[in-house]
Amino acid sequence: MNLIFLGPPGAGKGTQAKLLSARYEIPQISTGDILRASVREQTPMGSRAKSYMDSGSLVPDEVVVGIVEERLQKEDCKKGFILDGFPRTIAQADSLKVTLDSIGKNIQHVISIAVDNEELLTRITGRRTCEKCGKGYHVSFDPPKTQGKCDVCGGDLCQRDDDKEETMRKRLTVYDLQTEPLIEYYSKQSLLRTVPGTGSIEDIQKSIVKILEATA
Ligand code: ADP
Ligand code: ADP
Ligand code: ZN
Repeated sequence: MNLIFLGPPGAGKGTQAKLLSARYEIPQISTGDILRASVREQTPMGSRAKSYMDSGSLVPDEVVVGIVEERLQKEDCKKGFILDGFPRTIAQADSLKVTLDSIGKNIQHVISIAVDNEELLTRITGRRTCEKCGKGYHVSFDPPKTQGKCDVCGGDLCQRDDDKEETMRKRLTVYDLQTEPLIEYYSKQSLLRTVPGTGSIEDIQKSIVKILEATA
C-alpha cells in the first residue's frame, strides 16, 4: 500500500502516519523528520535546508525530491510506504510521479486531513516531541504521563523552533499558497480521500483504516 498524507502543519499527519506505519508494517517517510536529522547532524544538506526551515519556508524542491527518490529505492519500501509531508508543491508531485514510474510503482490513496486554522494553531503551539525517540505529544490533547518526559523512553520532550507562533503563521500561509493546490491535483486523478481531522486520534485512525480497507 503506497500512500501520501496531505494536510496543513499540525493536521495530525505525523501522528496518523506513525499509527498506520505500525499497523501495516510499512515505513513512514517524513521529509520534515529527515531534514531535521540532517540539520542536527550538520550535513551539507542540513546546512542548506536550515535557513528555509527556520523561516517557515519550503526547502527547495530538488533537495526534498532527492531525499524521497533515494528513500523509495530502499528494501523496506517493497511492501509499501507512507509519504508524510511530501509532496508539498505541484513540482514535487510531478517529480514523484516520474520517480515512481521509473521503479514501477504508483500511489493508491492520498489521504487529506482537514482541520481549521484555529485548531491548527492550538495543536502546533502545544506540540512536543521526544528528543530521543521522536514520539509526538500534545501538552493538553495527548500529554505524557510525566510532564516533559517521554512515556516510551524517558527522553526529554522539546518544542520545535519552527512551532513558535510567528513561524507557524508563515507556514500556514505557505501551505495555502504552495501545497493546497495539490488537493485539486490529486482530486482530478481520483486519488484524494478526505478525512475530517477533528475528533480523537483513535477515531481519525479508524476513519482512515475504513477508507483503506474498503478499497483494498
Ligand atoms: P509540519 O508537518 O508541521 O508542516 P514538517 O515536519 O513536515 O512540518 O516540515 C517542517 C519543515 O521542513 C517545513 O516547514 C519545510 O521547511 C521543510 N519541509 C518538510 N517537507 C518538505 C517538503 N516536502 N518540501 C519542502 N520543504 C519541506
Ligand atoms: P503534522 O504532522 O500534520 O504537522 P502532528 O501529527 O505532529 O501534525 O500533530 C500536531 C499536534 O497535534 C501534536 O502535538 C499532536 O499530538 C496533536 N494531535 C494530533 N492529532 C490530534 C487530534 N486528533 N486531536 C488533538 N490533537 C491532535
Ligand atoms: Zn521517547
